[in-house]
Amino acid sequence: MHMSERDTICALASGAPPAAIAILRLSGPKVRWLAEQHLDCGVPAPRHATLTDVGDGSGGLIDRGLVVFMPGPGSYTGEDTLELYLHGGAAVIEHSLNALTAHEGVRIAEPGEYTRRAFEAGKLDLTEAEGVADIIEAETLAQKAQALRQLGGGLSETYAAWRAELTSVLALVEVAIDFPDEGDAPQDTTAPIRVKLDHVIGEIQAALGDGGIGERIRDGFRVAIIGAPNAGKSTLLNRLARREAAIVTAKAGTTRDVIEVRRVLGGHIVWIADTAGLRVTEDEIEAEGVRRAERAAREADLRIFLIDAEAPDVSALSTDYRMAGDLVVINKADLGLAPESLNADHVISAKAGSGVNALEQAIALFVGKHAASVESPVITRQRHRARLQDGLASLEAARSALEEDIGAEMAAEDIRMALRQLGSIIGVVGVEDVLGAVFSEFCIGK
Ligand code: GDP
Repeated sequence: MHMSERDTICALASGAPPAAIAILRLSGPKVRWLAEQHLDCGVPAPRHATLTDVGDGSGGLIDRGLVVFMPGPGSYTGEDTLELYLHGGAAVIEHSLNALTAHEGVRIAEPGEYTRRAFEAGKLDLTEAEGVADIIEAETLAQKAQALRQLGGGLSETYAAWRAELTSVLALVEVAIDFPDEGDAPQDTTAPIRVKLDHVIGEIQAALGDGGIGERIRDGFRVAIIGAPNAGKSTLLNRLARREAAIVTAKAGTTRDVIEVRRVLGGHIVWIADTAGLRVTEDEIEAEGVRRAERAAREADLRIFLIDAEAPDVSALSTDYRMAGDLVVINKADLGLAPESLNADHVISAKAGSGVNALEQAIALFVGKHAASVESPVITRQRHRARLQDGLASLEAARSALEEDIGAEMAAEDIRMALRQLGSIIGVVGVEDVLGAVFSEFCIGK
């Protein structure tokens, strides 16, 4: 049976028109043939910019521009690729894509399909591919630096080193299975195994205990505004948002869900959440709001305890989710009633705006310090964390199995499992739904 040839894909790789230049990218087995059909110059000399007319294939001219041909396997995707640099107008793009996709076996690329092909060709592993997606999405320099490190193999190295060490542990365990009694005491064969195993376990534990910094740099830090109803939480959020994000009313209990606002503070993405006022309530919807507020408070990296100067309610200050570094802020300073005894970090008027800049700076400072607390996090996504936790559990199971006399077989199985779990992070164990999830977040043309 004849295996059908893989599609040739094409897409706009540059931003939305109108723009100075539109970059169209083609990759796949028909690239040379397409060049012959559409380029006045024929198949361009590899890796040279060639100025040529680009035709529609039936005598009409699409545009004139530069083209660069990169033959496989030395291209991004590993396949023959062609890039066209045309005038960046909507009609030029439409005309070219229509003309190219009119051929059988040529179609518009799916989101992330170029990078997926690069991954399948072994040009990059899964964390490096994620780095490509992240650098395109990066809005802060910190996000960009992290993405750049990741796409340059900064995470791959760590995971590969752990896998290499576990592979050697596995080999030792297998020797122990094959030659169970060589006359020596059993500790002699298991001691080096345990040392190596403990070493990997220790490193993975340290990576997991990074305070989620990599994920925070990528997705944003979380700040929750906590306080009694009417303390001025919505008013403060709107101040921090610099727009009307939350509804401000004089009626207590109006913010029933959690409203979030996104800012860049201290060079990092920060999500600031206004929460339902904390109070005992009969209203079921409001009670759900209070539960969500408490959850938001627990999940946040920083809590702002907002206290109404006029009606100070300090009950939230003695909750178990209050952490060192959290900010106690007295609001409604314009009413001139701030109680000295509260020992607040900030005294503000959310309504008039006084003290809000200083509060913003305090948030920026906290976030900056927090972000700098881990140097090069090896976890930058929940996906990595989940698989690493699974891997750690398997290795801990292997360690307990080794404590038992007949445990070597079980330990070997657990280590193999951990190797698969770590392998799925970098994509050497290709699970189709993992790949689908990772590449679907890309934009078309990447
Ligand atoms: P929330 O329930 O904590 O979200 O409180 P809101 O932001 O809805 O504010 C409750 C009431 O307090 C509204 O009438 C606000 O206008 C008022 N308020 C908020 N901040 C201040 C402030 O700094 N000074 C004064 N005088 N009133 C404020």
